Amino acid sequence: MTDKTTSATVLVIEDNPLNMELVCDILDSYNYRVLRSERAEPGISLAQEHLPDLVIMDISLPGMDGLTATRLLRSDPNTRNIPVLALTAGAMRGDERRALAAGCDSYISKPFEIDVLLREIERLLSNRLREGTS
Ligand code: MN
Repeated sequence: MTDKTTSATVLVIEDNPLNMELVCDILDSYNYRVLRSERAEPGISLAQEHLPDLVIMDISLPGMDGLTATRLLRSDPNTRNIPVLALTAGAMRGDERRALAAGCDSYISKPFEIDVLLREIERLLSNRLREGTS
């Protein structure tokens, strides 16, 4: 991890408690600032309020799903450039394609390896740093 990325703020939107704990524990241990929401609507509010550096978005959520939430983030000028990393169900064929079509930058299929998740987080954050404030 580089110093630049360790202070980044990551918003996790995930309804599964075990997955939420796993992802947040990983982020905590690498000194990311973590915001969390178990549902899409309050998650979008958190994104608008805090403008995190990255959103990790579960696709399957009760009520509004992660695809709809991603489209809403993309339609708001304030949040449209925040990278979104989708957590997709590997068994659900087409989930990955739908995630990208909705505007997610990339996806990780569940169950995922911790190393894979961390690498993808770092990659998306470094893209964002390279692009500067645009
Ligand atoms: Mn879920």
